[in-house]
Amino acid sequence: MNLGLSAEQAAVRQLARDFVEREIAPHMVAWDRAEEVDRGIVKKLGEVGFLGLTVDEEYGGSGGDHLAYCLVTEELGRGDSSVRGIVSVSLGLVAKSIAAWGSEEQKRRWLPGLTAGEYVGCFGLTEPGTGSDAGNLTTRAVRDGDEYVLSGTKMFITNGTWADVVLLFARSTDAPGHKGVSAFLVPTDTPGLTRRTIHGKLGLRGQTTAELVLEDVRVPASALLGEEGKGFSVAMSALAKGRMSVAAGCVGIAQAALDAAVRYAGEREQFGKSIAHHQLVQELISDIAVDVDAARLLTWRVADLIDRGQPFAVESSKAKLFASEAAVRAANNALQVFGGYGYIDEYPAGKLLRDARVMTLYEGTSQIQKLLIGRALTGVSAF
Ligand code: FAD
Repeated sequence: MNLGLSAEQAAVRQLARDFVEREIAPHMVAWDRAEEVDRGIVKKLGEVGFLGLTVDEEYGGSGGDHLAYCLVTEELGRGDSSVRGIVSVSLGLVAKSIAAWGSEEQKRRWLPGLTAGEYVGCFGLTEPGTGSDAGNLTTRAVRDGDEYVLSGTKMFITNGTWADVVLLFARSTDAPGHKGVSAFLVPTDTPGLTRRTIHGKLGLRGQTTAELVLEDVRVPASALLGEEGKGFSVAMSALAKGRMSVAAGCVGIAQAALDAAVRYAGEREQFGKSIAHHQLVQELISDIAVDVDAARLLTWRVADLIDRGQPFAVESSKAKLFASEAAVRAANNALQVFGGYGYIDEYPAGKLLRDARVMTLYEGTSQIQKLLIGRALTGVSAF
């Protein structure tokens, strides 16, 4: 087993590190305070190829394997999770779903723009009444001649305010539960689709999150992604890979927490010596370091399984569960190392903690990951 990076993977990681240093780090506190990152960052992410990773070059993608995708995601998460989330959704959930399930026409229509950062994609699964229980969603898609008419409300949609296209999940047949769900590609300028930005988030404040309301939104039948009634499979396969991307972002948060804690411990003096000399401070730092390594190894294993064409969904749940809880612990431990200074946003630990907290909630809460892992081990569904 080789846990080292190839020269190409190391180069991609360095490219991402430099990008974060140049394009993100100088602005992230201002973006966090303003509750919106500069939209120009999307085009820059496209230009450097980060929105096309793992997508075929034929459709504007930049190729690469899933480990390279994880490395870039980790570095973006180490910088600013709000920016990392734009990539994880627009590329990870939307473009990759189109690449996997789309018709030739759909791929040509959407992928070049999404991978170039000219378009932003969003993923519309959650509704006000169905979060963890997404298979029981109630947004309707009624067939009318060559069109579908969509009606319903989607909640907490990342990139929703900016997005040009929503990968929308709606109930199109009377089949019960998730069997009646289909996936649609809906341009957000379609008449009848309105959006409301959700303000006041605890973290990921630079990322736009929206409620989408659909009132008799008409799309051609060709907007269907994959087969009718197979939409839940589209959503679940997107989330299985998406959880790896969230996990990689969490590794980045934990690594940033470690870097900041070590640096500060060496600079700050109390009781006549730097706080790095105090054993209990070293305990905080070593706990963060172990979390970083364990989360990273679980995440890389998922990438390796995907790249070797092996089953990976349960391993992805394990990685997401562990890495998200680890990121919260790591950021909280780093905040403790910073003392009172950790509590203000001129220092990084507070933002890391606020950003980390949602990772245990979205793309399946920690409880839902445990049920997925438990079901795989016991054969019993406890949902
Ligand atoms: P609920 O499902 O109501 O859960 C509440 C609590 O009950 C949780 O602790 C949960 O673990 C627990 N629970 C529920 N069912 C069970 C069970 N069977 N057993 C044990 N415990 C259970 N969604 C999208 O579709 N697209 C997006 O882009 C997107 N982005 C998001 C961005 C942010 C910032 C946030 C906060 C959310 C986002 N979401 C998005 C929604 C997110 O995926 C949901 O919030 C999440 O799935 C949980 O659903 P819920 O909030 O309705 O909580």
